[in-house]
Amino acid sequence: MTGTFSRIPSVDRILTTASGKEAVIAFGHSATVDMVRAMLADERILIQMGSSPRDAVVLASAALKQLEAEAVPSLRPVFNLTGTVLHTNLGRAQLPEAAVQAAIAAMRHAVTLEYDLDHGGRGERDDHLRTLVCELTGAEDATVVNNNAAAVLLVLNTLAGQGQGAIISRGEMIEIGGAFRMPDIMMRAGADLVEVGTTNRTHKGDYIRAIDENSALILKVHTSNYVIDGFTKTVTTKELAEIAAVAGLPLVEDLGSGTFVDLAGFGLAYEPTVQDSVKAGADIITFSGDKLLGGPQAGFIIGKADLIAKINRNPMKRSLRIDKIRVAALEAVLKLYKSPENLCRDIPTLRFLTHSADRIRALAEALVEPVQALLGKGFLVDVITCRSEVGSGASPVQTLPSAGLGICAADGAGCNVGDLVARMRALPVPVIGRIRDNMLHLDLRTLEETELFLANLRSLEA
Ligand SMILES: *Cc1c(COP(=O)(O)O)cnc(C)c1O
Repeated sequence: MTGTFSRIPSVDRILTTASGKEAVIAFGHSATVDMVRAMLADERILIQMGSSPRDAVVLASAALKQLEAEAVPSLRPVFNLTGTVLHTNLGRAQLPEAAVQAAIAAMRHAVTLEYDLDHGGRGERDDHLRTLVCELTGAEDATVVNNNAAAVLLVLNTLAGQGQGAIISRGEMIEIGGAFRMPDIMMRAGADLVEVGTTNRTHKGDYIRAIDENSALILKVHTSNYVIDGFTKTVTTKELAEIAAVAGLPLVEDLGSGTFVDLAGFGLAYEPTVQDSVKAGADIITFSGDKLLGGPQAGFIIGKADLIAKINRNPMKRSLRIDKIRVAALEAVLKLYKSPENLCRDIPTLRFLTHSADRIRALAEALVEPVQALLGKGFLVDVITCRSEVGSGASPVQTLPSAGLGICAADGAGCNVGDLVARMRALPVPVIGRIRDNMLHLDLRTLEETELFLANLRSLEA
């Protein structure tokens, strides 16, 4: 055994091989040495278990391979073929090209983040977005924070954070997912939660009776991710605005997704637009940047100038602000909204949502044969009719007619769909679909790079 150990090459010997040298150039001396030492430790165990020693060339190439494997990013691009357009676990909105370019420029260069070029002095981060947002929504003023959850927290903390009453309907005490529950966020913000009405019905009088000297605001939450059907009653933003105005309280509305365009015009279910809420008289409105808006993660706070000024003075604002990369991307996205005719072409989220089922079916028909050829006889590929979802809690009940590829195991071929799904996840660009009735469903609504998709699938053959 000791004799065998002595045939194990030295670290230095391994570093002088071609792969060893390549590894040192790519990953540096210390990381390569660490990897080679780890390989040699494994090698001794393998030899003890009866393997014959590998030479320096083989060990160097194994070390290089392992270093390369560890360099693959953990956060990776995937094909989202789940049928959920805004998939929270897959990063929600895919950004428009203009926003991608703007973000890259902001990452690479010094930028005018808080610098006023006209006067050569200090500027404000919000200035890059404020005018655009106000123009698009009709609001007096606007600011932007990390996400909509942060927006809600900051607004409540500023306006009711000293234990003042925030009045909310029991029908709107929603959970968004994870730890974001409206009652919890309100308490963490320091507000006193004042629940009114019932789960299914809340009336104007419920709000009016709850108003007292401790009341600081009325909160309306868009129940974005569920619907209550049947014997229901809610008070509209307009009606609440009137009640709030009489009482001298601000009306805060959490719109959730928030959209600048009437989706009904695209044949989708109506979602309240930000402009509608401004017109209806909400004093402060919050919404996300990466849901229907189609931009990066962000939380918009828009509304009355005096309230926004107060919010901006809250020391919490600093902890929740966004960086230059997102300011750049958001500015680019907002500018696209100034050309309404081009939105469905230029904003991927809206482009995906408005693709017709016929168009998606044609794509599926074109892909059936090439995909079948790549998968071989073990699987059967067919065109399927399916339904996509908007996702991220927007339009929770609406589904969109769509099409895609359905893949099941061929009888008696010894293949199974579970293995295929795992192999799809192991591709250079992982393909994420959905399993329905022992069949892999790939909804093609969000597939655009078909050449890359097919080239990528070729790795399955190996
Ligand atoms: C999604 C959502 C939030 C949270 O927004 P994020 O941008 O994910 O932080 C809050 N309220 C409502 C009603 C939502 O739909």
